[in-house]
Amino acid sequence: MDACFQAFDKDGDGYLNVEEFRYLTRALFRNDRGKIYHLEERKLVETFNVFDTNGDGKIDKDEFTFCWNHWIKIIVRPISAFLIVDVQNDFISGTLNISNCSAQQNGLDVIEPINKLLDTVKFDAVFYSLDWHPSDHVSFIENIAEREIDPSSPVTAENAQTYDTVVFCGSPPQKQRLWPRHCVQDTWGSELHKDLKVLQNAIKVYKGTNPDVDSYSVFWDNKKMTDTTLCAQLRLRNATDIYICGLAYDVCVGATAVDALAIGYRTILLDDCSRGVDLTDIEKTKNTVITNSGVIVNSSQVKAMVEGRDRRPELGYKLAMELKASICEKNEEN
Ligand SMILES: [Zn+2]
Repeated sequence: MDACFQAFDKDGDGYLNVEEFRYLTRALFRNDRGKIYHLEERKLVETFNVFDTNGDGKIDKDEFTFCWNHWIKIIVRPISAFLIVDVQNDFISGTLNISNCSAQQNGLDVIEPINKLLDTVKFDAVFYSLDWHPSDHVSFIENIAEREIDPSSPVTAENAQTYDTVVFCGSPPQKQRLWPRHCVQDTWGSELHKDLKVLQNAIKVYKGTNPDVDSYSVFWDNKKMTDTTLCAQLRLRNATDIYICGLAYDVCVGATAVDALAIGYRTILLDDCSRGVDLTDIEKTKNTVITNSGVIVNSSQVKAMVEGRDRRPELGYKLAMELKASICEKNEEN
């Protein structure tokens, strides 16, 4: 750490000013071939200010110690979790085969690049989520008559078609998109596809098990009533980075990425390992991830990122903003 501080304290005054900090970020944010990633000026200054805790315009040795332990170390040696979302039979060739949806994408396409990653990249933890519904699940159009429709619903029970969104009675009333019956617990449709590699020490996370609430995100059900075991498992492993992919891009993959970012994880969405339902919604998903300082990459870029040889400024900025929020919280407590 001392050597690093001295190397960037070009004028040797015992502090890092913004200019010196800029050099540090140029050394930090590079890919494995030495290409320097640009960090926007506004974000550079914002990041600098997070570590200049006393606000005197320079980072002293104590402030740098914090920066080193909580930021640089994580950027250089991230702890990575790989989360493979819902690569199940029903979404690939079963009742909710996504190739029948408007984007006409093939769910089978994700298996080869995912398997290759599992073979070649050493993630610190691997998770498989499974959509895991009881047969009376609220999202099945076949069950529409089982629950009362709220007067505010744009579609009545009689007129409802697959993929429509209705509103069920409740407090508050509950919006629900209607899907064909899919991923019923312990059926062929809910099994992971036979060609998907399943690592022995991986963790399976089941979602959508409550008959009355749907669950797109692997973290939470759609009403945020109950969380899955994912949060606890990630915390247990001190994960810093989450790589998310699978089916469907604009539904469960997207919702999971949004939650991962909201919880504060450095989040990476794998474009070529994901397939979706609707092209416009896939674009929206991508925009949301990027706007919230997530990153979208292809699987070929993952190994270098996991090994800390390809270090993205977006993820560094995201971490800095999380540190800022936690510092603010601490100050409010005191
Ligand atoms: Zn489902």
